[in-house]
Amino acid sequence: MLCAISTPSASAQKCTVKPAIISLGQTVRLSCAVPATTAKLNDRTVRLFPQSNGGSQGLMPIAVADTPGAYEIKFQAEDGAALASAKLTIRPTKFPTQNVVLAPQIEALHSTPEDIQTLTEFRNTVSDIKYWEDPLTAPVPGCVLSPFGVKRLHNGKPTGEIHAGIDQRSPAGRPVHAVAAGTVKIAQPFAVLGGTVAIDHGQGLETMYLHMSKLLVEPGALVKKGEVIGYVGATGRANGPHLHWVVDVNGVPVNPQQWVALKSCGAEKAKPSTK
Ligand SMILES: [Zn+2]
Repeated sequence: MLCAISTPSASAQKCTVKPAIISLGQTVRLSCAVPATTAKLNDRTVRLFPQSNGGSQGLMPIAVADTPGAYEIKFQAEDGAALASAKLTIRPTKFPTQNVVLAPQIEALHSTPEDIQTLTEFRNTVSDIKYWEDPLTAPVPGCVLSPFGVKRLHNGKPTGEIHAGIDQRSPAGRPVHAVAAGTVKIAQPFAVLGGTVAIDHGQGLETMYLHMSKLLVEPGALVKKGEVIGYVGATGRANGPHLHWVVDVNGVPVNPQQWVALKSCGAEKAKPSTK
């Protein structure tokens, strides 16, 4: 250390986590005043990236399946040396159950191994250039029909799946906007997801937009925040037009409503929509 005057409390604050108390399915912002390269929460390791102020930043996802409790996030330097640690409390979080009524031919749709591989590769890629900036903007203006983390039943049968994104109400044909700048990695139809665009925003943040009727971008394109990437549809495993979109943080789906403020459609009777 070059710093001659150092108090224990100052060194304890080399790295901070925000918020320090968090629900399942949310994102923790990691920030260090020093060039940390990785942060570890149990067996989950994420990268931190150098910032212009000489510090470093990263994003730690808390999965829906994580166990609530008190933890320490440990920060490391490039050589693996321990730099700092910060306390994190994961609160118990309840997710409701939701039944979705699907026509038999829609329920029967399944992902192919190629589909799964394409999506896994997208999730596992973390790129160095940060294109995104706070705040993200909503892709469509509609209210939230189905929140993140809901345990899904299809025609009354448990699926073992959680709702890994949110559904926003929207008529078919409405433009879908990129929530932040980034590089288009996927723009193609899938059996279950329908017409899909996946964008890598850099430094661990990725978004996906599903069930679209028409796609306006190609893989490799650099899109600006707010750019129209396609139109709302009901393609794939959907029982009506809506926009399902996803935020992945370092490969883990997290709650988009922590990133973008959106109103719930509430008690208003809505046709439940799906994945
Ligand atoms: Zn959905």
